[in-house]
Amino acid sequence: MIVLMAAKASAGQIADVVERVTKAGFSVRRSGMERVVLGVTGAGRAPTPDLLDGLSGIAEISVDGPEYRLVSRAFQAEDSQIDVGGGVVVGGERLVVMAGPCSVEDPETVNRVAASVAAAGAHILRGGAYKPRTSPYAFQGLGEEGLYLLRQAAAANGLLTISEVMEPSQIPLAAHYCDILQIGARNMQNFTLLRELGRSRRPVMLKRGPAATLEEWLAAAEYVAACGNPDILLCERGIRTFERATRNTLDLSAVPAVKARSHLPIVVDPSHGTGVRDHVLPMAKAAVAAGADAIIVEVHPEPERAVSDGAQSLRLEQFDRLMDELRPVAEAVGRTV
Ligand code: PEP
Ligand code: MN
Repeated sequence: MIVLMAAKASAGQIADVVERVTKAGFSVRRSGMERVVLGVTGAGRAPTPDLLDGLSGIAEISVDGPEYRLVSRAFQAEDSQIDVGGGVVVGGERLVVMAGPCSVEDPETVNRVAASVAAAGAHILRGGAYKPRTSPYAFQGLGEEGLYLLRQAAAANGLLTISEVMEPSQIPLAAHYCDILQIGARNMQNFTLLRELGRSRRPVMLKRGPAATLEEWLAAAEYVAACGNPDILLCERGIRTFERATRNTLDLSAVPAVKARSHLPIVVDPSHGTGVRDHVLPMAKAAVAAGADAIIVEVHPEPERAVSDGAQSLRLEQFDRLMDELRPVAEAVGRTV
């Protein structure tokens, strides 16, 4: 339920609403600059307007509508700007760039990639330590050692870190080593994981499921927000269609469509979105032109040798070129890199 307070509502009237709904066991989140908006949610049950009977200073109460409320534009009209640490803000004027290997493989490779992408201007180092692999026989990730190597390589080069968690038990360790926790496409509707990440204080990047509609994706983000964590980045990484020329179909129309519905920042992943190294640069530029707040790309010094996703990993010099070519596109849409 979203409660829009009257423009002239007093602090006391707002406090009365908050007290009434909290006493009834619901949680309240506040937003709005000129007019206060209160998002009222409950785990597994919905509040009804009669709860607020007799209270004053309320302009409007909306109960129906989409399955997401806290992440909706109705709840917060302004774009969210998410401070992910070290002065890096996603959703502001600066385009944020995340880059790194698909998997953390060994110290040499991750250090080489980190030094190279940092010199080219990336802000955040990516690298999987817990890998969701289609086959149980494929490389499954280095676990804690991978997280440690990622953090070391990032720290040595002034970068932040992002890595995927696949189950709740991995959250404390990953939160220790990483600035942002990634929920992979395959886990977009792992509700237990979403709830646990909602209780954690680390920013979360929620990838879109390969077969998820926008509404389902935003409802998944709502789980994280409803459990108390407002620091959510959405990541478009391609959806499954009939087309086989690319690994997935990168749905760039999701960028404006999400922005119309939600205040959360959006990241685009042209690596998983295309699966083809040579398609990453044009689609990264298109993503920025479409309004993406950040991009995430896979980079490897010797993609032929990569233990996962080599075919879509940029070579180091290709990443340099990507940064050079992104700058004028970013500027053309009013952003800096
Ligand atoms: C990844 O980022 O390497 C990954 C597995 O991504 P996705 O969940 O989008 O497939
Ligand atoms: Mn990958």
